[in-house]
Amino acid sequence: MGTLFRIALYASDSTQAGQAARAAFNRVAELNHILSDYEPNSELNQLCRTAGTGQWVPVSKELWFVLKKSVAVSERTKGAFDVTVGPYVQLWRRARRQGELPTPDALAQARKAVGYQHLKLNNKNKTVQLAVPNMQLDMGAIGKGYAVDEALKILRKHGIKSALIDGGGNIVVSRPPPGTKGWAVSLGITAPTDNTRQLKLLLKHQGVATSGDLYQYLILDGVRYSHILNPFTGLGLTDQSRVTIVARNGLTADWLSTAVSVLGPTDGLALADKTPGAAASFIRQEKDQTPQWLSRRFKKLNTSLLGTE
Ligand code: AMP
Ligand code: MG
Repeated sequence: MGTLFRIALYASDSTQAGQAARAAFNRVAELNHILSDYEPNSELNQLCRTAGTGQWVPVSKELWFVLKKSVAVSERTKGAFDVTVGPYVQLWRRARRQGELPTPDALAQARKAVGYQHLKLNNKNKTVQLAVPNMQLDMGAIGKGYAVDEALKILRKHGIKSALIDGGGNIVVSRPPPGTKGWAVSLGITAPTDNTRQLKLLLKHQGVATSGDLYQYLILDGVRYSHILNPFTGLGLTDQSRVTIVARNGLTADWLSTAVSVLGPTDGLALADKTPGAAASFIRQEKDQTPQWLSRRFKKLNTSLLGTE
């Protein structure tokens, strides 16, 4: 999935800790082999090679689960979140390598292969069809959140009740460390491009994720394009936002952070309010201001400010 996974856990002894952590990392590796678009022979990429052939392809229960969720989320966000953005992601990666925006022609070509309506799921026999040629699915906005949830399940099976798993900024935690009220997670909350002042959250049995262009961006003619794409234009977001979601699990935090980024503060925070247990913070870099919007539940989180100013 193109990132690092880290695990912190409390166990009764180092043998239990080691066995549990190894099993959880193995689960992540297994999921990587299913969901990654970097790995040429991942199950996801094998499925993508059938695009446009009319085939109905049986998939693993893991891939089925994530695809099902993804389509549901696409419908709920009216396409602001879309796992079929792969062809646009490929154009974005090329733009970053070559230092120029995709041509209108290239975007128009890619557009034919984008759209979650072309991703067909047959509930009866759990088969999938990619109805249009050249489709490319991209789990970049949901797969890591799913993977940290699954890894946490494995730890639980090994008797680990208190743990934190971080998959490239997609974090999930279970019971607080012994003697504490929660896992302390620090988040950058000033300008989306600045990490100096931080907000400390105390979390338990929750997921947290941040989406933004702090690390992955492209600057062309003075415009900063995020790796989060607007599926309606095929281009990266340019509003320099940083969205943090706290949710009931890692999967929800992951997809919601991306969806809220695309939807913007008004529709995005409304979506967070409607998602059970979810809280959102939306910060935007404007000329010389960084306005921040907090959703209903975010205002009630247990937080404190860190850092100097
Ligand atoms: P995240 O860091 O969770 O916000 O996910 C960003 C990644 O998700 C990008 O690097 C793309 O691989 C993918 N992506 C970008 N835009 C979208 C979108 N609108 N819907 C779904 N996935 C997206
Ligand atoms: Mg995400």
